[in-house]
Amino acid sequence: MKIIKEINNNILNSDICLIPTMGALHEGHLSLIEEGKKLGLPTMVSIFVNEKQFNEEEDFNSYPRPIEDDIKILQDLNIDYLFIPENSYIYSENSFELIDSGVLGKQYEGSSRPGHFDGVLTVVNRLFELIKPKVAIFGKKDAQQLFLIKELIFKKKCEIEIIEGKTIRESSGLALSSRNLLLTDSGKEKATLLYTILREAKKNFSDRRELDAFEIFSSKYLNLGIDYLEILDLETFSEPTEKTVEYIILLAAIIEDVRLIDNIEFKLEGG
Ligand code: AMP
Repeated sequence: MKIIKEINNNILNSDICLIPTMGALHEGHLSLIEEGKKLGLPTMVSIFVNEKQFNEEEDFNSYPRPIEDDIKILQDLNIDYLFIPENSYIYSENSFELIDSGVLGKQYEGSSRPGHFDGVLTVVNRLFELIKPKVAIFGKKDAQQLFLIKELIFKKKCEIEIIEGKTIRESSGLALSSRNLLLTDSGKEKATLLYTILREAKKNFSDRRELDAFEIFSSKYLNLGIDYLEILDLETFSEPTEKTVEYIILLAAIIEDVRLIDNIEFKLEGG
């Protein structure tokens, strides 16, 4: 594995499979890397804690950065490149385009984290421009992010294939996240509630099939401190209609000052 801080011509001339991360690697990241390795292309993992996508300085400062552990994990996985750029390389003066994540970028996760998705799209766009990967892999765990990245690629007519990795969970149902490292044991136990609520919400909607009923169900949790619990059409990422084939329920909560997100995708049985 080559550890690089800058992109060279060798890389630009190969059909890279890129897996962007912010480090503090866990089995969720590893599953994306395994997907990438199956393609038989040179695999690159990037680790860059992107300040632009943090709307609170404290959150950026406390984000876990166990870089030595990450390097060991990746060495064992036998990837081709680990890209650990400096902030000044990614954001050198006038070298990058600030991307506006539009209306959707200000809803749901974006509503509680102003500027977050502008920052995500800005760094993803910059990584794409620098590396020119053939394939990039992102997790469905960050469903709104994934949707916005696919939209960015479509708008910019980039020829990059996006592969979507399924969400990896602990046996408790808790979705793996680098932020779980910031939770105490009791916080982690509380956090398992998120997936329980998502499954209950899915059942509630599958049984009733009424958006109004879902809203009443969801408002109960908003009173209990859940930040949002929304049902959307997976294809359009907006309110479901009669034409909706596949649904996604999004959930965000703050536990022990740690922001956690999760989601569940489903189709209704019997159409
Ligand atoms: P992050 O390091 O949190 O920016 O995440 C890097 C990539 O890993 C993103 O594409 C995430 O969607 C993905 N990811 C994060 N958590 C999981 C998980 N539990 N299962 C699968 N992919 C994940």
